[in-house]
Amino acid sequence: MRVVVAGGSGFLGSQLCEALVSRGDRVSCLDNFSSGRVANVAHLLNLPGFECVTCDVTTRVRVSGDVDAVVHLASPASPYDYHQHPLETLAAGSRGTENLLQLAVRHRARFVLASTSEVYGDPKVHPQTEEYWGHVNPIGPRSVYDEAKRYAEALTAAYRRSRDADTGIVRIFNTYGPRMRAHDGRVVSTFVRQALAGEPLSLHGDGSQTRSFCYVDDMVRGLIAMLDSGRPGPVNLGNPAERTVRELAELVLALTASPSGLRFLPLPADDPVRRRPEITRAREQLGWRPRVPLDEGLRHTVAWFAGRPEALGQPPKPSAAAGSAS
Ligand code: NAD
Repeated sequence: MRVVVAGGSGFLGSQLCEALVSRGDRVSCLDNFSSGRVANVAHLLNLPGFECVTCDVTTRVRVSGDVDAVVHLASPASPYDYHQHPLETLAAGSRGTENLLQLAVRHRARFVLASTSEVYGDPKVHPQTEEYWGHVNPIGPRSVYDEAKRYAEALTAAYRRSRDADTGIVRIFNTYGPRMRAHDGRVVSTFVRQALAGEPLSLHGDGSQTRSFCYVDDMVRGLIAMLDSGRPGPVNLGNPAERTVRELAELVLALTASPSGLRFLPLPADDPVRRRPEITRAREQLGWRPRVPLDEGLRHTVAWFAGRPEALGQPPKPSAAAGSAS
């Protein structure tokens, strides 16, 4: 297959590109490098069948040659990024999704949208099944991301109904692992960075809010299963092992043997209280389930950050709008 991976130099995208190339697919990575990095795909650049093209998917997307599949991961994705780039986030979900759907339709290619558990908002149903329509504040600070993804899902469903497009939607729950950015504002990277630096780990609220953390290798297997399946979705992809954010902080402290303590900060607006995917559909339709337990995945993640002091990087400029890790 020739697969176009939009957002392919990011955290998830680069690992997806790597897995596709290693199974023999040809891969075109399209990225505007807003949060992605060339370093994430540098090791693939000399391999036959891999190319990396600078491209903003919110402008016209042209790809020469055959295309069998398009995976749309191109969007600001961390709280830090979408608070800093609200309009670009809305554009990636709207114009970006439509441009990539048109590319897929022109080539009669399969299209997979990376949607998110954020479409459920602060959910009133627990755990979250795909039938649940969500509880999203349409004008709150998180709405640029949540509503962009909800619109992207609507557009994808409409292309399937009205243009006979071969589409699939996955709703990704919190995923972590090597190649996250240390200052991206997500909870795992933030805690690991703070623990390795000997700084107190910043907990929002009392830390009793829950999340379900999926290791990146599991997520990449899920994305490929969706790509190959021909299923429309939406399908939840995530690890149903639910943890409080405080438990996560304590696990990171234990794994890093860090003397850091905890620092309590106010809860940001619209922070979801509970998050846990119901994954029966993924098990039955894709034959997928996560395999890597949290302590094992965190060990790999901590080792990756610890071995790359440069990845801990400099903090970005502070933003009054930046919200909590999620
Ligand atoms: P990331 O920020 O590392 O990757 C996003 C990539 O998209 C980056 O390489 C960025 O440069 C690129 N990009 C952004 N806007 C673009 C544009 N207009 N044109 C071209 N490229 C653009 O984040 P990630 O965690 O790898 O997320 C990948 C996708 O998965 C996103 O769509 C995100 O919404 C979705 N997702 C991720 C998670 C998670 O926990 N990691 C959870 C839910 C959904």
